[in-house]
Amino acid sequence: MTHAIEIADLHKYFGQNEVLKGIRMTVDPGQVVCVIGPSGSGKSTLLRCVNLLEVPTKGKVFVDGVELTDPDVDIDAVRRRIGMVFQQFNLFPHMTALQNVMIAQQRVLKRGKKEAEVVARENLDKVGVGAKCDAYPAQLSGGQQQRVAIARALAMNPDLMLFDEPTSALDPELVGDVLTVMRKLAEEGMTMLVVTHEMGFARQVADRVVFMDGGVIVEDGEPAQVIGDPQQERTRTFLHRVL
Ligand code: ADP
Ligand code: MG
Repeated sequence: MTHAIEIADLHKYFGQNEVLKGIRMTVDPGQVVCVIGPSGSGKSTLLRCVNLLEVPTKGKVFVDGVELTDPDVDIDAVRRRIGMVFQQFNLFPHMTALQNVMIAQQRVLKRGKKEAEVVARENLDKVGVGAKCDAYPAQLSGGQQQRVAIARALAMNPDLMLFDEPTSALDPELVGDVLTVMRKLAEEGMTMLVVTHEMGFARQVADRVVFMDGGVIVEDGEPAQVIGDPQQERTRTFLHRVL
């Protein structure tokens, strides 16, 4: 079986600073893998290397068997299959929720306006903000904005979703709505690589949890193992701080 994501000996330097020091991991189709670890450990850089927002210094990244690090690869074609959701929602402030979910479909996938609108409404309904189609981002709560951002990614029919701390900018009472949407996506079989501090979500939803520290993977295993019974001192220290 082809892995949905395969990362082989990935190194990333910013100048002299080596922030990823030989990462190896795989995500299989339909799996949910949560990446946890302290601030500065390289989690975002790792995710960004999976859709080439950052160019790996050394090593290989494959998405669905296609080597992204091959200089001849059609990066746009690969990226189109990968949805990404950031901590900051990055919605266009001058566009409604509906327009935010339509624009990339029209520009990138060349869908007509009618089709883009139908797909946008479907996905806004799916994430529970169908009643907010005509609202501008400033009129929405953070949780609603993040769900619009998820709908925008889903409207592109991605094979794979990357989430970088999607709930970290939200007020605590709004976190649950976003996690519920993510849990539903996982249940539908979406392949997901999720950087998160939500240990409850990781425990309940993830097939595997990866603990990173200092640019390396310290532990990789089932949630009950990595969160419930960590083998490494560094993992225990981190969990003591967040749990
Ligand atoms: P995390 O997401 O785990 O908090 P990051 O991947 O954001 O960690 O950052 C890992 C390290 O790489 C940090 O030391 C950070 O300062 C550095 N870093 C991240 N992005 C850049 C960049 N564009 N230029 C220089 N250094 C960066
Ligand atoms: Mg980060």
